Amino acid sequence: MTDDNRSGKTKKSIIVIGGGASGLMAAGTAAQAGAAVTLLEKNSVTARKLSITGNRRCNITNMCPIKEFPSHYYYSSRFLKHALYSFSNYDVISFFENLSISFHEEDRGRVLPVNDNGRTISIAFQKWALDQGVRLLPDMKVRKLLLKQDHVIGVIAENSSQQRLSFHGDAVILATGGKSYPQTGSTGDGYRLAGTAGHSVISPKPALTGLIVKGSTAGKLQGISLPDVIVSLWIDNKKVMSRREAIIFTHYGLSGPVILNISRAAVEGVIDERETMLSIDLIPDLDHEQIDMQLKRHFNGHGNRRFRTILEYYLPGKMPFVCCEDLNIRAEKPSSQVSAKERKKLRLWLKSLTLTVSSFRSFEEAVVTAGGVDRAEVDHKTMESRIIKNLYFAGEVMDIDGETGGYNLQAAFSTGRLAGLSACGKGL
Ligand SMILES: Cc1cc2nc3c(=O)[nH]c(=O)nc-3n(C[C@H](O)[C@H](O)[C@H](O)COP(=O)(O)OP(=O)(O)OC[C@H]3O[C@@H](n4cnc5c(N)ncnc54)[C@H](O)[C@@H]3O)c2cc1C
Repeated sequence: MTDDNRSGKTKKSIIVIGGGASGLMAAGTAAQAGAAVTLLEKNSVTARKLSITGNRRCNITNMCPIKEFPSHYYYSSRFLKHALYSFSNYDVISFFENLSISFHEEDRGRVLPVNDNGRTISIAFQKWALDQGVRLLPDMKVRKLLLKQDHVIGVIAENSSQQRLSFHGDAVILATGGKSYPQTGSTGDGYRLAGTAGHSVISPKPALTGLIVKGSTAGKLQGISLPDVIVSLWIDNKKVMSRREAIIFTHYGLSGPVILNISRAAVEGVIDERETMLSIDLIPDLDHEQIDMQLKRHFNGHGNRRFRTILEYYLPGKMPFVCCEDLNIRAEKPSSQVSAKERKKLRLWLKSLTLTVSSFRSFEEAVVTAGGVDRAEVDHKTMESRIIKNLYFAGEVMDIDGETGGYNLQAAFSTGRLAGLSACGKGL
């Protein structure tokens, strides 16, 4: 084993594990504040996941008012509040603007770079960290935390030649991410590392992920996306939540923003083996009564038209045919022959297409991980472990997860900055 701690006597030495969004922010911040920082990243490049976020466009944060921010995280809103207020969405935007990147706002407050290229952000971000004096060591997988009683004193890492090296420091920041998209490097190592230090890890589950549904309806609609639907989630016949956004029908079931944002609670329902149903309102601008009146008008006023032709007024592509099949009504049936019962069946299909969730897409496809290091064991004002002194956490390795729209990167940046400052004794 080689001891590779080259920190000066006067500077605090800090080791950051993981060079993703939170780790780069923690490392650069600590170095800027005067610490000697070593960043150990197991990939050959940093920020692999950051580059592919937002469909490779990198949706770094959201423009919603900062006071509304906490409500966009699931159970972690109170825990994150201090970090978010200390380094807000406006701070994140200014930070990257200072790296010569310009942003614009898109739908639902999403903030994206004007050049639509997430890679520029990763490159500028890494350069910033290096410019602050961070010593970046790629291809270095951390295997173990070095503990002395209730303190962390360093780590043991393995390089690409399987050589084991030890690094000693005054503080260690664990920023290894969650388990989603493991090909980017986040394979859950941090859970094991934190576990060996005595931390509890809330069972990781895929979040912001596609939902697999029973029956053939969704599969038959594969490829159709609707920009504006309301999806309600029912667990054991109790309405848990509703969201209004876009939906995409896929070969396995459902995806798109509305499904991703509902998936957190739906995945829990499925794991707990409770009856998990989705009710989709395909025509959210009209209530049942309005739709009924409109359908009556259509069917009575255009008696010669075929049933499916009327449906084309409401549904795109092959949807009218799938609807006819589902309702068991002949597509070519003249409108005048459509009974009141059939009209009611159609209204219910349009307003509450009900599908049962049987499963969900795995970590390979999930945008984030729900679960992770128990927040109760981390000081929300500093990100320091309440169990091991000088051990800090940043980003998704903790049990924090938010909705789509830039909230997860914002959490990574805010907690990374807070951990970086706290680790060198400059807490906010
Ligand atoms: C496809 C996709 C799109 C997304 N789009 C968005 C978006 O547009 N907006 C948004 O807000 N969020 C988005 N997210 C979520 C967001 O990317 C994550 O929440 C965020 O990257 C988490 O940052 P992190 O630093 O905690 O972890 P990561 O970015 O996962 O970084 C962890 C780093 O630690 C390294 N590491 C792991 N184990 C070790 C080890 N043992 N030793 C050394 N290094 C290690 C990994 O290689 C990795 O580089 C997206 C996620 C995905 C997968």
